[in-house]
Amino acid sequence: MKQTIVTGGTGLVGSAINTGVKLSSKDVDLRDWKSTLSLFEDYKPKNVIHSAARVGGLGGNMNYKGEFYYDNIMMNTNVLEASRRVGVKKVVSFLSTCVFPDDVEYPLTEKKIHLGEPHSSNYPYAYAKRMLDIQSRAYKEQYGVNYISVIPTNIYGPKDNFSIDNGHVIPSLIHKCYLAKKLNTDFVVWGSGKPLREFIYSEDVARLTEWALENYNEEEPIIFSTSDEISVGNVAEMIVYYIGFKGKLVFDDEKPDGQFRKPSDNSRLLSYLPDFKFTPIDEGIEKSVNWFVENYERARK
Ligand code: NAP
Ligand code: GDP
Repeated sequence: MKQTIVTGGTGLVGSAINTGVKLSSKDVDLRDWKSTLSLFEDYKPKNVIHSAARVGGLGGNMNYKGEFYYDNIMMNTNVLEASRRVGVKKVVSFLSTCVFPDDVEYPLTEKKIHLGEPHSSNYPYAYAKRMLDIQSRAYKEQYGVNYISVIPTNIYGPKDNFSIDNGHVIPSLIHKCYLAKKLNTDFVVWGSGKPLREFIYSEDVARLTEWALENYNEEEPIIFSTSDEISVGNVAEMIVYYIGFKGKLVFDDEKPDGQFRKPSDNSRLLSYLPDFKFTPIDEGIEKSVNWFVENYERARK
C-alpha cells in the first residue's frame, strides 16, 4: 500500500510537490474509468493529491471548450469515485479562482463559488471544476470520507506550459518576450494590459497543498492566494526586465482582456497560517524566466 499518489505529477503544480508517487498521463488516462479504477486498485493509496486536469490560459479555454469540459469532468468523476471504491481516506483536489461567478461581489470567498454563471470565456472548465466541489461534499456526506478542494489563483513557475496560444499569461509572455529578443521583433501583449490578476508561485502552492493534506479538513474549500493584485502590463514589464529585452512592448487590443479582475480573500488561509511567506512576484518571475531560458529545448511549449 502506498501512502499518497499525486495525479498530474508531471505538471506545474505536481512537479513541485515533494511527497507521494507522481503519476502522469503516461501512467493512466484518467478520463478512462476502467484504467483509472485498475490503477487505484494496484496502488490502494491512503491519500490522493488530485492535480491532473486539462488546463489552459484565456486562449486554451476559448479554443477548446468541448475538450476542457469533457476531459475535466471525466477525470474528476473517475478519480473521486475510484478513490472511494478503494478506501482512500483523504483527497485534495484543485479548483481555481477561474471557476467563480463573473457577476459577483468582490472579494471572492469560499462561500461564493456557485452564486452565478462563470465568465463566458471559460464556462465549460469552470462548471466541470465546480462539480469537484459538489462531488467531494456529496461523498463526504454519504460516505464519511475526507475529500476536500483547494482554490489557487493564477499559478506560474518552472515546468509551466509555455504555449503562446494556450498557456497562462506569465508563461506565454515569457516565451513571447524570449522570442522577441532572439528575433529582434516587438513583444506583443494581448489586450490593454490593464486587467488585474493575483499570481501565486508553484512551489508555494505545493507547500500549501502538502499542508492541506495533513491539516485542512473543512467541508468548504480553501483559497490559496496572496490577495495582491497586479496588472498584466506590470507583469509584462517585469518579464522584459528579467529577459533583458531592449525592444518595443506593444499591446494588441484586437485580443481579448478576459475578466477585468477577480480579487480573492485569503483570510481563511491566513487564519490557519498567519506567518506563511509567499514568494514575491519579482523573485518568482526571475526564477521562471531563468528556468525557461535554461530549459528552452525541453520546456512544454
Ligand atoms: P499542468 O501543468 O497543465 O499539468 C497537468 C497535469 O495533468 C500533467 O501532469 C498531465 O500529465 C496531467 N493530465 C492531463 N490530462 C490527463 C489525463 N487525461 N490523464 C492523466 N493525467 C492527465 O497543470 P497545473 O497548472 O499544474 O494545474 C494543476 C491543478 O491546479 C489543476 O487541477 C488546475 O486546474 C489547477 N489550477 C491551475 C492554475 C494555473 O494557473 N495553472 C490555477 C488554478 C488552479 P502529462 O504531463 O502526462 O500530460
Ligand atoms: P485568466 O487569468 O484565467 O484570464 O487567464 P490567463 O492567465 O490566460 O490571463 C489572461 C489575461 O492576461 C487577460 O487579461 C489577457 O488579455 C492577458 N494576456 C496578455 N497577453 C497574454 C498572453 O500572451 N497570453 C495569455 N494567456 N494572456 C495574455
